Amino acid sequence: MIVEKFRALYGRAPEIVARAPGRIEFIGNHTDYNGGTVLGASIDRAVEVALARRSDGEWRFASEGRGPAVVLKARGPFKQAGAAAWVNYPLGVLASLPKFGLRVPAGFDYLADSNLPVGAGLSSSAAIELASAFAFLRATGEDAPLETLVKAARDAENHFVGVPCGVLDQGVSAFGRENHLVFIDCRGPRFETVPLPPEANFWIFNTHTRHALIDGFYAARHRECAQAAREFGVALLADVAAAKKGEAQGWKWEVKDGLLEILPADRELPPWLKRAKHVVEEIARVDEAVAALRAGDLARVGRLLNASHRSSRFLLENSTAELDFLAEALAAAPHVYGARLTGGGFGGAVMALTDSAFDDARARTVAATYEKQFGKAPDILHARTGDGASILKG
Ligand code: ADP
Ligand code: MG
Repeated sequence: MIVEKFRALYGRAPEIVARAPGRIEFIGNHTDYNGGTVLGASIDRAVEVALARRSDGEWRFASEGRGPAVVLKARGPFKQAGAAAWVNYPLGVLASLPKFGLRVPAGFDYLADSNLPVGAGLSSSAAIELASAFAFLRATGEDAPLETLVKAARDAENHFVGVPCGVLDQGVSAFGRENHLVFIDCRGPRFETVPLPPEANFWIFNTHTRHALIDGFYAARHRECAQAAREFGVALLADVAAAKKGEAQGWKWEVKDGLLEILPADRELPPWLKRAKHVVEEIARVDEAVAALRAGDLARVGRLLNASHRSSRFLLENSTAELDFLAEALAAAPHVYGARLTGGGFGGAVMALTDSAFDDARARTVAATYEKQFGKAPDILHARTGDGASILKG
């Protein structure tokens, strides 16, 4: 398909086609910047990038449905604005490759095409970055470890586009595998795949809500977690479990069976302590989910997803009435193992893990009750796992 579109646009066949999938944050809410662990799913929807080299030193960028090609002289990537702003994603990759000792193609015709919704929390941005990185690398004939491409793609998003995303997005898109989840120890980062029973299905309910103060809320969570680490006397909250017990500002704490127990128990916890309790216990839930997956026990995985949502709601306090409503309605629905908010929170989407019998009709029933309450239906997306980034041609 993309080969035909490329030919129609540029009058010749592409030499290279690369693809990279979107991803779902499966469990591990706000654990990444605390040095913790997270599980993600690469899904069966992806961005494809087709490329053919040019010898006249021009970079020609086009994306299906985004108007005529943007033509740039291959002389240092300059940031684009307006309708061409999407080009900053592949341009950012071109700006990052040399930082990792990799070359940049001298000239090319480029076309992106995608069946991944944009801005739906499925990280179409990481997908276009990685598909681009794969295509550019193939065009220069160089080789690099997957870890390096993950770093270059993330660097593009953090420093060229200017979005402070974690390693989950690019890591899962790169390391994903059909019928597997990707486990990431964010500190390495270290990537591993964990088998997921094939009856597992994902249903994403996107509320299209976004709290007006969202950036400030994210910054506050980063600050509170950093403060908590200082109070606990550790570098990152991921280190609390190994420290086992101690005292912080008059609070006695102890990690027992994955729980952060805090005394006295009858006093309201200050924000930094609530965030710490969430992060420490969420990391334990990720590890427990890996064990449950290895045992093929999706019911147990589902209970962990529900517990993760409650923790985000009451301890991390990054949920909303809309997300709580969906998570609860879904968790109570037949054929659903569990449900939780996915992503940064303060709006966005809820993910349900279901068996194969959950279907469109059941999803629409949940969406209809939501619409009655909140006046607007959420978008529904059904996904299964899919393979990570790869070269399809060339
Ligand atoms: P998300 O990653 O959750 O989908 P982002 O706002 O991080 O949302 O990234 C979306 C942006 O990525 C789009 O606005 C666009 O600039 C770029 N993008 C994603 N997919 C494509 C595509 N197929 N073609 C062009 N740009 C794309
Ligand atoms: Mg994104």
